[in-house]
Amino acid sequence: MPSYIPIIGLEIHVELKTKSKMFCRCANNPFVATPNTNICEICLAHPGTLPVPNRSAIVDTVKIARALGCTINAESKFDRKHYFYPDLPKAYQISQYDQPIGEHGEIVLTFNHAQEKNQRDNATIGITRVHLEEDTAKLTHAVSHPERSEGSPRQRRDSSATPQKDSDVGNTLVDFNRAGVPLVEIVSEPDVESALEAKTYCQELQLIFRYLGVSDADMEKGQMRCEANVSLQEAGRFTKERGTLAPKAGYKLNPKVEVKNINSFRAVEKAIEFEVKRQTALLGKGETWQQETRGWDEGTQATVHQRFKETSADYRYFPEPDIPPFEPLKIASAVSIGELPLARRERFHQEYGFSYADSYLLTAEPAWAEYVENVMSELTAWLHALPETHACVEKDKNTDKPPLCKTAQDLARLAGGWLTSKLMGAMKERAIDIKILKVKPENFAELVALIYANRVNSTNAQKILAEMLDSGVNLDPTHIMEEKGYGQISDTGKIGAIVDDIIKNYPKQIAEFKAGKEPLIKFLIGMAMKASEGSADPQVVEKMLREKMK
Ligand SMILES: [Zn+2]
Repeated sequence: MPSYIPIIGLEIHVELKTKSKMFCRCANNPFVATPNTNICEICLAHPGTLPVPNRSAIVDTVKIARALGCTINAESKFDRKHYFYPDLPKAYQISQYDQPIGEHGEIVLTFNHAQEKNQRDNATIGITRVHLEEDTAKLTHAVSHPERSEGSPRQRRDSSATPQKDSDVGNTLVDFNRAGVPLVEIVSEPDVESALEAKTYCQELQLIFRYLGVSDADMEKGQMRCEANVSLQEAGRFTKERGTLAPKAGYKLNPKVEVKNINSFRAVEKAIEFEVKRQTALLGKGETWQQETRGWDEGTQATVHQRFKETSADYRYFPEPDIPPFEPLKIASAVSIGELPLARRERFHQEYGFSYADSYLLTAEPAWAEYVENVMSELTAWLHALPETHACVEKDKNTDKPPLCKTAQDLARLAGGWLTSKLMGAMKERAIDIKILKVKPENFAELVALIYANRVNSTNAQKILAEMLDSGVNLDPTHIMEEKGYGQISDTGKIGAIVDDIIKNYPKQIAEFKAGKEPLIKFLIGMAMKASEGSADPQVVEKMLREKMK
């Protein structure tokens, strides 16, 4: 059997979190309000109303387009996209057709964990276009009871509910709170080659939206939606240029299948995996398929046929006559997008010396990245004040930056571990979100410095961290350490007394050690640590044990 390559293009829709809707002054709040409260003549599509574009939505779209490396068009316009559906009473959606805000961008995905065999180390995914449009109303399928439908509130039906009686009929409720919410569509080139790449692409976009502050992009809430175009093609029998596939002589391209109704990152991965398997099986039997739209079914974990695909000509696009063209490039010169996740990850690795794995985790939320930034700036200041590190903070002649000395690398490794495993872990146990964390960065940095300087051991440092988290107020770790006696004992007098006791209490083990059974030293240190309730400095204990046993 020939080998096949999955050719995947993704269409992402993301709702912007502007104050007001796209073409009217209604509040952009489709989730909290009761149905049909944030509505007006414009978003209800009354005849004769005039749409007025929301400038902040255009600015946000320019930010997204710039973050994705797009060319920002000098001139852009809105177009009407015609189709009939109950969530769209105008029978057209105001969207953008041939002059989107941005075009021809790209996004780089990195895969440093090698999660899968045959996975590329990194992938550059072309961005075809970034355009702005309006969201539609939200439909909810409901059940009503005909015998008491007059004047009685209709019941909402959730996905698990079923009609109670034969007389129950299905109704559909329309909520216009979502109608007219600004929606950005991002179309990728068919450069994605696996389910994992598709999932990573969606996750990276979500992070970019959050870094830009333009959307929370929660897939479960429908703030971010994903559709995938998937087709398997025979390796070596087609060419791909600027996102367009062309068959080589004697080969016919397999049609695209569009997969909709994907509501989570996991579903992105599962739906594409399923579709690749399904198409592989068809090709294996010598069969092919028609261009169609399929929907992902969570219940059966399968894609199911919905309809055969219409072409873009069916939408009868034409320029929106009520909105004049606008100039995104002029807007772009005035907006700043700040540091993006990829750059921040790289800087965390280079500047602070975190491993790539830690850099990934620590930049996965803008609030966390800020926190880490503050912790590290405290630690760097502390490090520079240490006498033994003066030698390594001299600036590098070439980069004008201090090179990472061993001390700084050790400290970064320690801080990375304490941030990603101890702090994140303890916060997860207590269901504390970074946004409500009471432990200030300077106090967390101080705790890491205490551990680094051997003033407290790991066990006691975790107790201090637990107290800092549980107190609900901002506590000083040094104060807790001193008050509770958690500090490490390196006083030779105190440790000497403990070591004397150990030598007295374990004569058999001492004799065996002296006879050459070296591993017993670990046991003896362990006993001394236990006797000190974990407070003794193990290095001092070992040194004294060896001296006293001579
Ligand atoms: Zn409105």
